Amino acid sequence: MALKKKRPKNVIAKHRSPSRFAMKDFKTTKSHVRPSWDEYFLKIMKIVGTRATCDRGRSGCVAVRNKRILATGYVGAPAGVKDCDELGHEMHTVVHGDGKKTQHCIRGTHAEQNVIAQAARIGVSLEGATLYVSMSPCYACAKMIINAGISRVVAPKDYHGAMRSKEVLKEAGVVFDLLSGAMVKYPGMSADEDEE
Ligand SMILES: [Zn+2]
Ligand SMILES: [Zn+2]
Repeated sequence: MALKKKRPKNVIAKHRSPSRFAMKDFKTTKSHVRPSWDEYFLKIMKIVGTRATCDRGRSGCVAVRNKRILATGYVGAPAGVKDCDELGHEMHTVVHGDGKKTQHCIRGTHAEQNVIAQAARIGVSLEGATLYVSMSPCYACAKMIINAGISRVVAPKDYHGAMRSKEVLKEAGVVFDLLSGAMVKYPGMSADEDEE
């Protein structure tokens, strides 16, 4: 005859239904407003940007598809190469067709370029992805975004040199959501000398 095993007391306690307790025991005490998905990824993008190595704009970038992060990137010198924080900026003057001159630091690859490079390195397609960026992308980045198959770009601020970027993103059918008219400013930037 098989002996009936007696269930230990602690197991019964472990499986006790929560319904036995009053609901007030489980209520949170503080009110909390959850961020939207766009707000959530924009906050993460800002944290990614804190790793940037050029203080003229510590830009970050996050590539997302179906609410999941595919890759991240931030502006800075290529891996293994000395950066602006160590050497100072690598300034470059661009003379535009209308004679206007602008100053840019060209040492680093941009956050958008680095997110595309990281995705390539780990073998992840960015087809149909949404890109969360610090500001409107520059022309070079906009062209790479189009060719990487990214379908939407979200930026909280505008960039003074993004006129052509907006035109080509629109022409290529990439949705560009610029969340404010605020323009990113750079140290030493003046009316006739814009900087990147
Ligand atoms: Zn720099
Ligand atoms: Zn760029």
